[in-house]
Amino acid sequence: MLGQQGFSLLFQSEELLNEAATTFRDHILETTGGKVIAETILATLEPQASVVVIDQHTGYVKAVSGGRGDKDKMGSLILNRATQSTRQPGSTSKILFTYAPAIDLKGATLATTVYDSAMTVEGRPLTDWWGDRYPGYINIRQAIMASSNIVAVKTLENLVTENLAYEYARAFGITTLIPQDKSPVMTLGGLAYGVTNLELTAGYAAIANNGKYVEPIFWTRVTDLEGRVLLENEQTTRTVIKSDTAKLLTSAMESTISPPFLSMPSIGIGAPNQGCQVKGVALAAKSGTTNDVNDLWLVGYSPAYTVGVWCGFDESMVIGEGANFHRSIWTSIMERVHKETEVGDVSAFDYSGLVKLKICSKSGLLAKEGVCDECGDADCHIYEEYFTSAAAPKDYCNRHTVYHVCTESEQLAGIYCPERFVEDRVYFVIDPMDQDGVETHDIKNMVPGDLIGTVCDIHDEFFEDTEEEEEEALPLNSFRPRE
Ligand SMILES: [Zn+2]
Ligand SMILES: [Zn+2]
Ligand SMILES: [Zn+2]
Repeated sequence: MLGQQGFSLLFQSEELLNEAATTFRDHILETTGGKVIAETILATLEPQASVVVIDQHTGYVKAVSGGRGDKDKMGSLILNRATQSTRQPGSTSKILFTYAPAIDLKGATLATTVYDSAMTVEGRPLTDWWGDRYPGYINIRQAIMASSNIVAVKTLENLVTENLAYEYARAFGITTLIPQDKSPVMTLGGLAYGVTNLELTAGYAAIANNGKYVEPIFWTRVTDLEGRVLLENEQTTRTVIKSDTAKLLTSAMESTISPPFLSMPSIGIGAPNQGCQVKGVALAAKSGTTNDVNDLWLVGYSPAYTVGVWCGFDESMVIGEGANFHRSIWTSIMERVHKETEVGDVSAFDYSGLVKLKICSKSGLLAKEGVCDECGDADCHIYEEYFTSAAAPKDYCNRHTVYHVCTESEQLAGIYCPERFVEDRVYFVIDPMDQDGVETHDIKNMVPGDLIGTVCDIHDEFFEDTEEEEEEALPLNSFRPRE
């Protein structure tokens, strides 16, 4: 400011900020002789943050940050936000409390579709975070990518159940849940006390460690001067989910970061963590934001390290829409930790043992070539999805269906319709139990109601195809294609 080098726009208090603004304004007025017509001073409070870095294979906590600020000034025994503060985990719960049990125990796959449409939970309307646009069928990979609230709640209610969600949360090492947390919204992170960053990150580390939970520890043993072991830190370990389940969850969370290949233009959602890529390092992560944006989370891992970042204020306050610094912090940590430690090849996750099948994203079943890809809807994708061999689909898509329509009558073609009027149209079938009267994207592609049950009434058994005859009767000297 005023010719100073490296002037910082950070102030210790709002008073200091206003003081600096006054100095600046007075100087400008003095030197230019102008006057103030309008003025806006925008002060943003700097949020707090906490970070946990765990080596998922050993459970060793490699780094922990309990808050921002100068440790010398603030002392060592101050609040550690990573290990002591419990905060609402937002959508990071969806993985641990819902999709992990759904895939591990309830037969769901990443291709399993759930109808994303308006719903009420305990009498209150539930919308997706992107507003009241509803795509209709989306699969679990897309639901993880886009962080659909509705698919998470429906999956918990209809497939997982609250009791099982609670059990998995406990198995992932979350100790701060209480029985009252058992509700459909626990998958959205609606908890009585919340979770600590340490426990949440350790839960994700269990997925990163192929499904095996290893209790996070800060020290391993204490020895005396002669090297005799005085204390040894025994870690609890347990298998929470099958290694195949862990691999599937990893693959889904990898697609929150890698460029989107299952985008849903109808709701304008792609890969939310695309900015978090680190060259040469495979990464998988899930972000979380709580109501009114009080807490920002990004928890995820590479093949070597699991990192959890929380940002927010100690007294729950709104951070503001569009805040992205949790992602920047997470990405810089991932960058440095892999650059500065010996980790070997971390360029890809291990998906060995899974099978890949070409499926239709709208049904979760094998894609019908020439049908699913002919529907022309940008939300529909034919793509290769990972499955365990046990859960691999054997049936073909039942939602994209071909109807033969007579273009003359705009009714279903009958046996007397000349072939040149018969058009194959791909329409979309919504399960009757999912038809809830809400305007979803899929409804636009449904077969029109007035088409069903019709048969062309222009071309019946008495219809004479004069045009066909005329063509036949073309004079010899008229132009005809050679073949
Ligand atoms: Zn299909
Ligand atoms: Zn389609
Ligand atoms: Zn016809």
